[in-house]
Amino acid sequence: ATPTALMVGTGRGAQLGILIKGPEVLESTRKVDTIVLDKTGTVTTGKMTLLAVHTVEDTSEAEVLRLAGALEHSSEHPIAQAVAAGATARIGSLPAPEDFANLAGLGVQGIVDGHAVLVGREQLLAEWAMELPAGLREAKAKAETAGRTAIAVAWDGRARAVLEVADAIKETSPEAIRRLRALGLTPILLTGDNKAVAEAVAAEAGIDAGHVIAEVLPQDKVEVIKRLQGEGRSVAMVGDGVNDAAALAQADLGLAMGTGTDAAIEAGDLTLVRGDLRVAADAIRLSRRTLGTIK
Ligand code: ADP
Ligand code: MG
Repeated sequence: ATPTALMVGTGRGAQLGILIKGPEVLESTRKVDTIVLDKTGTVTTGKMTLLAVHTVEDTSEAEVLRLAGALEHSSEHPIAQAVAAGATARIGSLPAPEDFANLAGLGVQGIVDGHAVLVGREQLLAEWAMELPAGLREAKAKAETAGRTAIAVAWDGRARAVLEVADAIKETSPEAIRRLRALGLTPILLTGDNKAVAEAVAAEAGIDAGHVIAEVLPQDKVEVIKRLQGEGRSVAMVGDGVNDAAALAQADLGLAMGTGTDAAIEAGDLTLVRGDLRVAADAIRLSRRTLGTIK
């Protein structure tokens, strides 16, 4: 490789908002044929809004918002921020939780006003042998069909509410997916969120329903990358979260959203400074072209 060609390539990269970790990264861009995209914060804006609260009969919306909001206030997850902001807007200040724990890919737990509270996936409730009553199950199904994320709230051993949050896809995502396809890459959506929400996002972004891998726990994202590599694919991965770091490191080419967490940026080979997915396509095209000059 001629140093000059590499410098031209990386200099142009910096102009486009692409930071390249080192010259050896360019080589990986040549063979990648599959691109795995994290959903939340990568294909979607990651800025969620609390849209609705469904409760069981003997529970008020204000109680749910107080207990769930208090816990979520301590978490940095985009869903948690939506719940905390929505709760604060509706009921004012929130109490401080005790024994707070963040359960990656599942939700949060802690003590609020003396109640043992869980907020998160239905699976988290199942781990404590709780299930949603019929009314809440119905609300959850409806929300998910509409492409929203439904979060369960339980305390003192009973499921009490379902919260609906939604996260819009980035305006630029459909075009980014088209550009990636034009480079010969197969886009795959990877998420810890449920299948219905993931498929709704995929449809909007232009990813095939058959290329949606949903309900994957954070620690298992890296296994998905290994499995795809085991099928003979050369895999690029784009992600933003702490949850994505191991998968980014495992991928043949890791692209981190510059708007994401430090862990993701450290694990990636390339950083997309502005968090614009279209730049992922630019980055791959630019690197391939730079290599072309070198050869
Ligand atoms: P993604 O893979 O899309 O970036 P995560 O792995 O971070 O998503 O989370 C997966 C799922 O776990 C979320 O869709 C949500 O249902 C649940 N979850 C995770 N953290 C929280 C939280 N703090 N509050 C409520 N639900 C949560
Ligand atoms: Mg994410």
